[in-house]
Amino acid sequence: MDNFSPTRNYAQSLDQTDPLGPFRARFSHPQPSLRYMDGNSLGKLPLKTLDVMEKAVRDQWGRELIRGWNQGWWEAPQRIGDKIGQLVGAAPDQVVLCDSTSVNLFKLVNTALLLKPERKKIISDTLNFPSDLYILQGIMHTLQKGHTLQLVSSQDDDLTPDISALIDAIDENTALVTLSHVVFKSGYLYDMAEITRRAHEAGALVLWDLSHSAGVFPVELDACEADLAIGCTYKYLNGGPGAPAFLYINHRLQEQAVSPIWGWAGQDKPFNFDLAYTPAPGIRRFVAGTPHVLSSLAVDSGVDISLEAGMPAIREKSIRMTEYFIRLSDALLTEYQFRVGSPREARLRGGHVSLRHPEGYRINRALIDEMEVIPDFREPDNIRFGFAPLYTSYEEIWETVERLRVVMSEKRYTHYSEAKATVT
Ligand SMILES: *Cc1c(COP(=O)(O)O)cnc(C)c1O
Repeated sequence: MDNFSPTRNYAQSLDQTDPLGPFRARFSHPQPSLRYMDGNSLGKLPLKTLDVMEKAVRDQWGRELIRGWNQGWWEAPQRIGDKIGQLVGAAPDQVVLCDSTSVNLFKLVNTALLLKPERKKIISDTLNFPSDLYILQGIMHTLQKGHTLQLVSSQDDDLTPDISALIDAIDENTALVTLSHVVFKSGYLYDMAEITRRAHEAGALVLWDLSHSAGVFPVELDACEADLAIGCTYKYLNGGPGAPAFLYINHRLQEQAVSPIWGWAGQDKPFNFDLAYTPAPGIRRFVAGTPHVLSSLAVDSGVDISLEAGMPAIREKSIRMTEYFIRLSDALLTEYQFRVGSPREARLRGGHVSLRHPEGYRINRALIDEMEVIPDFREPDNIRFGFAPLYTSYEEIWETVERLRVVMSEKRYTHYSEAKATVT
């Protein structure tokens, strides 16, 4: 980006040479003037998914009824799980699509604690997603096995983890280290291989939450010798609101891995209807109940587009877009006291960038209500801009910063109340 210039022309020139540019036409854009900067929270609708869902409802559910279970529904969690595995560096039979991210975290934390019964410490940090921390607290509350949660504080900037404190905290009593691979507020990207290696040296397991990296960063679970992982499919994987999540268990742990939810869909011979539970071999035992067929088919269709584009190209564009956005904000927003709340170094940054401002909440409201720009807001002062390499254009990014400049120069945010809406 050596010839960078903060002009619309330059943005257009980046679009013209963007190898992923043609993928934009695969998605629905019913409001062309909308600048959607929230693909990291809910991905756009792939056009193909309209067809897939119509067929799934009309032909599969409507016509086949119960026979559908023998025509691919039953295997869907593993078939689609393997596809997601290709995007996160997992060889087949280690990923399944099921339940929500939170529920999968519950399952895998319990699994990890059962694998390390003599160890009583769980480590995470203050940058982790609150739901993840709630799940951990709930497990300790209900399990009553004397586990403790050590939350390592981030650095004072509230965006960068304290990696050396984190590594120092891992000891011979540590059962599990669990972190979000990309921090939901700041977009900080952890070194998965290094942290996993340090945890393994101390005999601990690591569980990665890939919600903000799956589909935007070429995660290499197997190569990093990861143990356990979970992640969302409705963000960069474009699986639709509330789509089922995925979980990963490395082959080397699968035989000893026990799920805390012994449902019939994870039973060895579910149609024998035995009274006693025998776990299915391998990863299948982690599918607790009846698969979410319709929403899984939407995930299938979303994931195909990422597979076609390929993770290296996606990451390359993701880096370019976040860098472009940071350079634009440096060039056009200098007088308005924004702070970039994300790492400036690309190798430490995921797919979104947060701009911090004391009036962040009201600025975000003005962007949404008056400017047809949709970012989102995260306490206390982060406006998050998510860039989806498959459909975000550079010109949209330029327009976003331009509209943000208008909100600031005309002080439009001052018209809004400071009272927060239910969903920010
Ligand atoms: C989005 C997100 C989740 C969401 O979990 P749900 O169970 O789908 O609500 C979990 N963890 C992280 C890090 C996230 O970004």
